[in-house]
Amino acid sequence: MPVKPSDSEEEYFARQEAERRGKLAKEQQAKLALEERERARTLHFMKCPKCGMQLEEITFGDVHIDKCFHCGGIWLDEGELEVIRQKESGFVGRLFSVFRR
Ligand SMILES: [Zn+2]
Repeated sequence: MPVKPSDSEEEYFARQEAERRGKLAKEQQAKLALEERERARTLHFMKCPKCGMQLEEITFGDVHIDKCFHCGGIWLDEGELEVIRQKESGFVGRLFSVFRR
């Protein structure tokens, strides 16, 4: 006749199983979040955040501007505004004159 596990043993094994499944669920969630982020990055890379059309990179000096020729939006990558700020005062005016209609 099999030996019946005690209540404390059953509780221990049930808790172990619950912890294992909980950990697995968290790992699956993290993997999905990572995949979703990568999918979104691939889908939206160099797309205008306003109208969704393709952005074109325009180089002016050492500043690279992402320009949307569909809605007219201009986007700067991280640090580029700071680069513009450090330029001589006339630079910004000349920079934006490139896109003046
Ligand atoms: Zn646009």
